[in-house]
This record gives sequence, C-alpha cells and structure tokens, in this order.
Amino acid sequence: MITINENYLKLQASYLFSDIAKRVAAFEKNNPDRDVIKLGIGDVTKGLMPASIKAFHEAVDEMANDATFKGYGPEQGYEFLREAIAVNDFKSRGADISADEVFVSDGAKCDSGNIQEIFSQDIKIAIPDPVYPVYLDTNVMAGRTGIFADGRYQGLVYLDSTRENNFVPALPEEPVDLIYLCFPNNPTGSTISKQELKTWVDYARDNKALILFDAAYEAFISDDSLPKSIFEIEGAKEVAIEFRSFSKSAGFTGTRCAYTVVPKECAAYDSKGNKHLLHALWNRRHCTKFNGVSYPVQRAAAAVYTEQGKAESKALIDYYMVNARAVCKTMDELGYSYVGGTNSPYIWVDGKTDSWEFFDMLLNKAGVVCTPGAGFGKCGNGYIRISAFNSHDKVKQAMERIKASLA
Ligand SMILES: *Cc1c(COP(=O)(O)O)cnc(C)c1O
Repeated sequence: MITINENYLKLQASYLFSDIAKRVAAFEKNNPDRDVIKLGIGDVTKGLMPASIKAFHEAVDEMANDATFKGYGPEQGYEFLREAIAVNDFKSRGADISADEVFVSDGAKCDSGNIQEIFSQDIKIAIPDPVYPVYLDTNVMAGRTGIFADGRYQGLVYLDSTRENNFVPALPEEPVDLIYLCFPNNPTGSTISKQELKTWVDYARDNKALILFDAAYEAFISDDSLPKSIFEIEGAKEVAIEFRSFSKSAGFTGTRCAYTVVPKECAAYDSKGNKHLLHALWNRRHCTKFNGVSYPVQRAAAAVYTEQGKAESKALIDYYMVNARAVCKTMDELGYSYVGGTNSPYIWVDGKTDSWEFFDMLLNKAGVVCTPGAGFGKCGNGYIRISAFNSHDKVKQAMERIKASLA
C-alpha cells in the first residue's frame, strides 16, 4: 500500500489569495461600473530592462547555432554570472564573498524552501511572525512541527514582529538552532540595522546556531547605513546563508533567476558534535537535484551588472519607490501609522481594526485591493500590506480614492 507523507495533512490550506479573489469577484459583480485597483500582490508589473532583453535575445541566438550552442551548464551557474554577483553584490560592499560560494538557481522560493533538507529532523527552529509562508510550510512538510493549534504550529519558536519592537524581532528566550530572517521584510517592509543584525550573528555564534537570511528585497534599500547582505556583518560567514533573487530587483518573477550564498567556512554539526561544512552539503544537494538555470536567463541576469543594467535596474526600483512614497504620504495624511515604504516596496499599515474588516472597507469604499496582514501570521492581524508594484497612474488613482472615501 502506498502511503502519504502525513505531515502534509498538518498544513493549513492558505485561503489568503483565494479569499481575496472571491471578495474581489463579488465586488466586481455587484459594481460592474467600478474598476478595481490591485495593490495586493507581491509581483512586479514592469517589463524586463533593455539590457537584460538584449543579452537574453543574443543568448537565444547562440543556442540556435551548433558552434555556440550550450547544453547542460555547471549546476552552480556559469562563472560569468557567479563572478559578477560576487564582485558587484558583495565585494563592492566590503563582504568577502567569492564566486564559488554563489549557487545560481531558479528561485529564492525554491532555495529557501529546499535548504532545510540539509539539517537534522530535531533542530529547534525560530520563524518570524508575520512571515513569508515558505519557511514555515517547508518545515511542516519535513515533519519538524507538531499540529496547528490556536493559529500556530506546535514545536516552533515564533519571533513576534510587532509595533513594540519596530517589527524587528527580539532574540528568542529559549535556545534555537535555525533562524529565519528576512530584511527588508515581506510582508512588513521593515528593515534591520547593522547593530541589530550583529546581535543575531553574535547569538548564532554563541549558540552554534545558523541564520538563513532572505535578502530578496535588498535592491530597495536606499539608506546606505543599512546592511544589504548579512555578510556585511563581522563573523557572519561562519553562521549564515543568504538568499537573493533577480525577481524583485530586475523584474525576473516570470524569467526565474536567483542565487544562494553558502560561505566556505559556514558550518553545522553532526550528532557527535563534529563540525561539517555546509558548502559541501548544499553543493551535493544542488547537483543531485538541480541541473542549472538556462543559459539565456543567466545571460539576462548577468546583464543587470553591466553599466547599462545597473542604471536601468536603479530606474526600475526608483519607479516603484515613487509609488511607495505616494502610499506613505496618503497614510500620513489620513493618520494611519505604518512601517516600510522607504527601503522596501511594501507598506504595512495599522488598520486600527481587524485585517479583513479593513480590507473590505478599502475594497467597498475605494475599490482598492490590499493584502490582509492576518494571512501572514497571528501578529499580522490588524494590519494590511500595500504593495508599490503597480503603475504610477494606478497608484495615484488608488490614493485619491482612498483619501476621498476614508477622510
Ligand atoms: C518574492 C520573494 C522571494 C523571491 O522568490 P523567487 O522564487 O526568487 O521569485 C524570496 N523571498 C521573499 C520573502 C519574497 O517575497
């Protein structure tokens, strides 16, 4: 008899985006003359940058010719991309990361979900609340949690991100082995300072723990005092793995390219306390289960690091950040408190009421769709997430409608 992985039965069905879709559909049915503006989804809206498109096209042409055709490439990514990443994303900021510590992949979602495979079953895991659900669900699937009760999985340590701690969680009170952190944060848009991040690195070093740092939104950081990488923090290379993606920084959500940095000295332990290097383990996992990102996509990603690419990706980010400022300005005028929107494309608004009530009010009064914070965890209740990913025109209209209906 074939039996299933029963851990899957513990997973909470995520009704968040289907519930949103249902409410929007009902509104549109009852208000056929009103158009709805969507500021809910965490997906980019602008086309790929010319630098990437040009490199993409040229690489496709290379594939058409026997002399320049590329078959299987290195599983870890082509040297031209890994080197560009190491130089531009790390060395330029004083983080000593080399090309062979970079593993190119087809997504930070896959990497941040797959990484847990290389750790033992009985580790204690700390996960922020609210959270990007991937970290949570992949550990549930792997059987590292108990059942879901009172809004939380048993066996995990939740790191509350609240107004009181400015949405940067405090160190756990009980010992933990694996820590997930994401800054700039999805969904809250909060950022972490170098000093705050150093307390986590020091904690990991003192406790032989490991930090998984998701920096998918680093490109939105304009305040140069904030860390873009955890490897800007002294001592992080022994105790941290970082996830990055071209999805939000260069509009690659549909093109698929990301990477994971596992420094050579990053270590974990076996049950006898012997030290093992995680680079070798992740390399083994990656090569066994993954055959590399397509050549044209890697060329398109590498083009982000050319002079033209850098200017265009900055313009892309700046475009969305104009929206973020418009949202913040409206929230200021209406007297709502929020976090994010300055070094992040998300604005996390305290709705002063239940998340879904606020969602319904924005939909029904203004015809604007946001994401209810309650969908990201217990601490998200009372908040909504507004995303800057849309056109200037749509965001301007949305803000005018919100002002007119809520003032
Ligand atoms: C969008 C996002 C990613 C990127 O995922 P990809 O699979 O690379 O598209 C990673 N982490 C967070 C928190 C995100 O919001």
